[in-house]
Amino acid sequence: MEPILTIVVPCYNEEAVLPETIFQLQQLMVDLVNEHLISHHSRILFVDDGSKDQTWEIIYKEGLRNEYVRGLKLSRNVGHQNALLAGLFTARDSSDCVISIDADLQDDIEVIREFIYKFNAGFEIVYGVRKCRDKDTFFKRSTAQGFYKMMKKMGVDLVYNHADFRLMSRRALQELERFNEVNLFLRGIVPLLGFRSDVVYYDRKERQAGETKYPLKKMLAFAFDGITSFSVSPIRFVLIIGFISFFMSLLFGLYFLTLKFLGDTQTGWTSLITSIWLIGGLQLIAIGLIGEYVGKIYKEAKQRPKYIVDIDSFNLPLPRHHLL
Ligand code: UDP
Ligand code: MG
Repeated sequence: MEPILTIVVPCYNEEAVLPETIFQLQQLMVDLVNEHLISHHSRILFVDDGSKDQTWEIIYKEGLRNEYVRGLKLSRNVGHQNALLAGLFTARDSSDCVISIDADLQDDIEVIREFIYKFNAGFEIVYGVRKCRDKDTFFKRSTAQGFYKMMKKMGVDLVYNHADFRLMSRRALQELERFNEVNLFLRGIVPLLGFRSDVVYYDRKERQAGETKYPLKKMLAFAFDGITSFSVSPIRFVLIIGFISFFMSLLFGLYFLTLKFLGDTQTGWTSLITSIWLIGGLQLIAIGLIGEYVGKIYKEAKQRPKYIVDIDSFNLPLPRHHLL
């Protein structure tokens, strides 16, 4: 039996590129079905992450006339990771495997074919890995590089140059759902699932149309979240700095005291004011960092849902009255 595949595509304000994405993905779907690589029950699930443009209208209309296209409309914007999860968990029960891919066609969709080969060969998780990133801006490339290196140093096992283009089996998704933390950093969690996994290399392209939804601010927030969701080493680092500066100030104190007893007293003010600033700064950093973790605990303790579904045409037919 051919496996049932669902391709999950999170979309946020993607009206510029979406028609092309739909066209290419459904073309691929038809090919794969004709080649008996996947079942004809396979679907493409577009997750509208609270877009403010025509994204949902495009998905909705396509869903009415294209048997492969399904839509999931979230009630508001919850961000890429959560939108992705919404799609994965919606698709899970009626799919043998699920592939996640961005809407902007940066990832080579032909790689999906190789994902399926690997899945049929018994791999439960297949990671798409970018061979070279020369289509990304220099800035994006170097910041990403730094991010991977830092995560590695802190002991988080990330697949290098892998974004969220991957295949997961139903079993892997079932296990993923048991990680019910609110701050879910998929790239860090998925390797923790274990299972037989493999990678497929591909060339990353430029965004076909529309603009990146990850401006610098969001990218930094994403990286910071990734780090603090996985490791307490930043707090430890601050602690170490704290100890060092504490002993340093002890030494300084001794030094200045000796000077005082020797009668050389004009050196008071500068050292005093610098140390006040130094210690004060360090304390603020430490408190801020601890606050970051406490905030995370606070969020986790509340156990809020990660997303809320408005319309789900994957499991139910589209409501025909919706746009009329
Ligand atoms: N995305 C989303 N919700 C958001 C932001 C982005 O669903 O709040 C989607 C977006 O539509 C795209 C994917 O996440 O399909 C990756 O975003 P983008 O391509 O803009 O990021 P980049 O490739 O520039 O890092
Ligand atoms: Mg992109």
